[in-house]
Amino acid sequence: MNPGVFLERNGILNLVRVERQHQVNPLTLGEFIVNPAAIAPLRRLKKAGFVVLATTNQPGLSLDYLPRHELDRMHGLLLRRLPLDAIYTCPHDLSDDCPCCKPKPGLLFEAAHQWRLDLDRCFVISDKWQDALAAHNAGCTSMLVRSPWIGNGHHDFVLSTLDEVVDRILQIHVNSYAMNSAA
Ligand SMILES: [Zn+2]
Repeated sequence: MNPGVFLERNGILNLVRVERQHQVNPLTLGEFIVNPAAIAPLRRLKKAGFVVLATTNQPGLSLDYLPRHELDRMHGLLLRRLPLDAIYTCPHDLSDDCPCCKPKPGLLFEAAHQWRLDLDRCFVISDKWQDALAAHNAGCTSMLVRSPWIGNGHHDFVLSTLDEVVDRILQIHVNSYAMNSAA
């Protein structure tokens, strides 16, 4: 069984515009800007042996305002620029009542099955409460980057930057490894 890290896409892996206190989901490749500050932290996670995965809600696919080929081009760029193993997308709208739209944990369960992940040893990184709740529902540790969208619900850690989050994950990972080896 492998340890894994799930990262929310918008605001963590790609930069987003903010309008009226909301992040604006990019709808074209031209609007899609990979966050250069994500490269080094993701490399550190890969080097430590984590499976590194992105997750994203994209209701525009089922509501027909986001063409699948445009999303594929954005995700192709993301996979070329960042050391990611895969990207998991919920294509549904809330009215579809699917099991994978975050804060539901369906994407985490699907990825855990495909990558043989031990969810107890997995982390979820995000700047939004929905991912912290999905993490909680799946038994993962939630690591939030401080933002206006983290809410007041359950979360395990809140830190200032992605670098600090990765520092903390590596500390926890090394300590739990030492504990398991001693047992
Ligand atoms: Zn879904």
